[in-house]
Amino acid sequence: MHYPEPITKLIDSFMKLPGIGPKSAARLAFFVLDMKEDDVLNFAKALVDAKRNLTFCSVCGHITDQDPCYICSDTSRDRSVICVVEEPRDVIAMEKMRDYNGLYHVLHGTISPMDGVGPEDINIADLIKRLQNEEVEEVILATNPNVEGEATAMYISRLVKPSGIKVTRIAHGLPVGGDLEYADEVTLSKALEGRREV
Ligand SMILES: [Zn+2]
Repeated sequence: MHYPEPITKLIDSFMKLPGIGPKSAARLAFFVLDMKEDDVLNFAKALVDAKRNLTFCSVCGHITDQDPCYICSDTSRDRSVICVVEEPRDVIAMEKMRDYNGLYHVLHGTISPMDGVGPEDINIADLIKRLQNEEVEEVILATNPNVEGEATAMYISRLVKPSGIKVTRIAHGLPVGGDLEYADEVTLSKALEGRREV
């Protein structure tokens, strides 16, 4: 089908988003054409602002508009516990649960030899530096319960244990292959509560 160029461009842009095929992209593009101009401008501005104003916390790697992030700078949090997660979305899932009051460390990925991702490609070196410089008593490994998540947890556990810091792994209340970010708050809370020393 032939669309005028501006709408083809818009459809192509929507298709860059995850889970959006050509049909959905066309539907969204035509929806935008029907929107009020102000709403379209606000939408475009929100996209650009999110991209420009957000950065990663230099301490924990969480996504933030201030550095250090609001979690790292919150003095009421328990600084003796660090929960290690794969992505910023996992921090948000954990925070929604409200049972956890420690700090985080975001790896930005998992070790995955199949995809050529080694330990040096994710945010592990910074975690080790934090453990050397901060008074940390426990590291909770909350990577996802899949092959890469388990391998990454194992790797970090071997690296950290000689230092005498307690290393725990969240319980498998999470469905196998189920991502942390999709777990409901009760499941996540139980997984955290049932964590075991590794
Ligand atoms: Zn932070």
